[in-house]
Amino acid sequence: MAQKHRSLAIVVPFFVGIVLLAAMAGSALVLGIDVGRKSEEVRGLETEAVQTEAALLALVDAETGFRGYALTADAGYLEPYYQGLERLRAIEAASPSMFAIDVETDGATLRFADLVAHRLALFEQGIADIKQNGPLTGGRLDVVSQGKQVMDGIRKLVGELRAHRRADIAALSGDLAFRNMLAFGLVTAAGIIAIALSIAQFFAFNRQMRRRETSEAALQLRSREIELAADMTNALQAVPTREESLLVIADYSSQIVADMTGALYTYNNARDQLVLSASWGNPALKGELVESFGPDQCWALRRGTAYIAHSARHGLNCQHVHGVPHSYMCVPIAAQGAVYGVLHLASPAATPEIAFSGIQDTARGLANRLSLALANMDLREKLRSLAIRDPLTGLFNRRVLDEILTRELARADRARSRLGVAMIDIDHFKSFNDQFGHKAGDIVLKSVCDQIAKMLRRSDLACRYGGEEIVVLLPDIDVENGVRVCEKLREGVASIELGELVPGATHVTVSIGFSLYPDRCSDHGDLLPSADRAMYDAKRAGRNRVSAYGGPAPKPDLPLDIAQPRLETIGSTPT
Ligand code: GH3
Ligand code: MG
Ligand code: MG
Repeated sequence: MAQKHRSLAIVVPFFVGIVLLAAMAGSALVLGIDVGRKSEEVRGLETEAVQTEAALLALVDAETGFRGYALTADAGYLEPYYQGLERLRAIEAASPSMFAIDVETDGATLRFADLVAHRLALFEQGIADIKQNGPLTGGRLDVVSQGKQVMDGIRKLVGELRAHRRADIAALSGDLAFRNMLAFGLVTAAGIIAIALSIAQFFAFNRQMRRRETSEAALQLRSREIELAADMTNALQAVPTREESLLVIADYSSQIVADMTGALYTYNNARDQLVLSASWGNPALKGELVESFGPDQCWALRRGTAYIAHSARHGLNCQHVHGVPHSYMCVPIAAQGAVYGVLHLASPAATPEIAFSGIQDTARGLANRLSLALANMDLREKLRSLAIRDPLTGLFNRRVLDEILTRELARADRARSRLGVAMIDIDHFKSFNDQFGHKAGDIVLKSVCDQIAKMLRRSDLACRYGGEEIVVLLPDIDVENGVRVCEKLREGVASIELGELVPGATHVTVSIGFSLYPDRCSDHGDLLPSADRAMYDAKRAGRNRVSAYGGPAPKPDLPLDIAQPRLETIGSTPT
């Protein structure tokens, strides 16, 4: 839209300028033609004035010749007379319009041709008289005085004509000068406009070239960023652990937002802190990055959008930003409604708007990529944990138990150490479900498992064996301590106040069977079943108790009282 407005702002003045230029050129052309025509007119008038004078002189010459002849009757005097008449005829042939001119004198309209014709008639009349009667004398001299009167009339008419022509020429010349000035002005203005348009066009062209160069450079940079981001996504697919993924992110991010110090903060498990997970760039600014901060200490997280500021700015400043004054930008890393962390970028530049003007889109794009990468990492971790953990209780599943048990037995063989196994089963759990519902049963099952997990050593391992049965592996333990641990677990479960979780319920108890490798059971494959048998013994003995497996039953050929498996049941009040 803005681009369209910009183009219009260039095109419209250009169009107007060109129309103006064309109009001026057209007007100058019309004026030029008009000036030419008027000049022709002035020239015509001037020629006419000269011709009038010449006609008068020709008549004067004819008059002189006639007078000589009139006084002497000597035909030799008629020479100038005929020459004058000849010139007069030549002038009439050249400018017939001049002879048709009417001039107002003393209220009468006189035509030049009429006066000339009258004068010539008087000449002819006089010459005919002289030829017949000799030189003019007496009353015959009237023709001379009449001719003089006509000549005076002609002179006056020529004078008038000259005055009129002068006035016409002056008026035409004034008009001509004005038109000349106008034409000159128009041509000059058109020239100036043409120069202005050329200069404007030059600058517009230059600007367009610069813009094209800038956008080409931006395009190249953008495609490089896209390439890097795609490479990062591919690399992230190939690395199996979160730690390696964070290294990949730091490496690629440092290239995508080059010249910037950067940090990736991600939520901890409790989601109450953002922890520095990856960083890159200038060591001085990297040293200023805090290890962790609360979500309410970052304006980008509080507002849910990118935030750009200067660390020395008062007021709205992210509280996790400290140290030497610098510009920074925080971008929330979020995808599909879930926020995974913050991308923090820092620059030593004094003006944040300038520091981040060219990379805001890049930073947002990177934050988008990172959100997908972090979502993937979370998903992978979840899937991995789903593969090894029971989703309801969070304990390891039976597949893990099988693996660890095999490994621990091998280790015990190698190290000649012991491995204790406790089989734990919740008492009368079916009745609990029946009474309070399956959901309440789930809650209780989870709290029993939490309680057991909480009470174990780091080296112990609790697994959900199935239903409401839990197996605990207790490495490096003897029977006495094993039974003591089981007893503690039994008491711990019995101490859970169920009323807080399931209204109306009070307590739940467990029966535990304990077996020890290799002291009580040296057969790898029988270790779990032996603990299970001990657990059933505890059930039979009244539940809510611990029973230790005493060892394999004696061979059938041995006396019956020794062949019975030895069972030790350590219990409390039967349920
Ligand atoms: P006892 O072990 O004391 O002999 O009696 P019990 O009622 O616990 O024994 P039983 O094996 O007959 O029943 C086990 C019950 O555990 C059956 C089932 O309702 C319950 N149970 C097993 N797994 C789950 C579970 O994931 N959630 C819930 N709510 N109940 C479960
Ligand atoms: Mg059971
Ligand atoms: Mg049970």
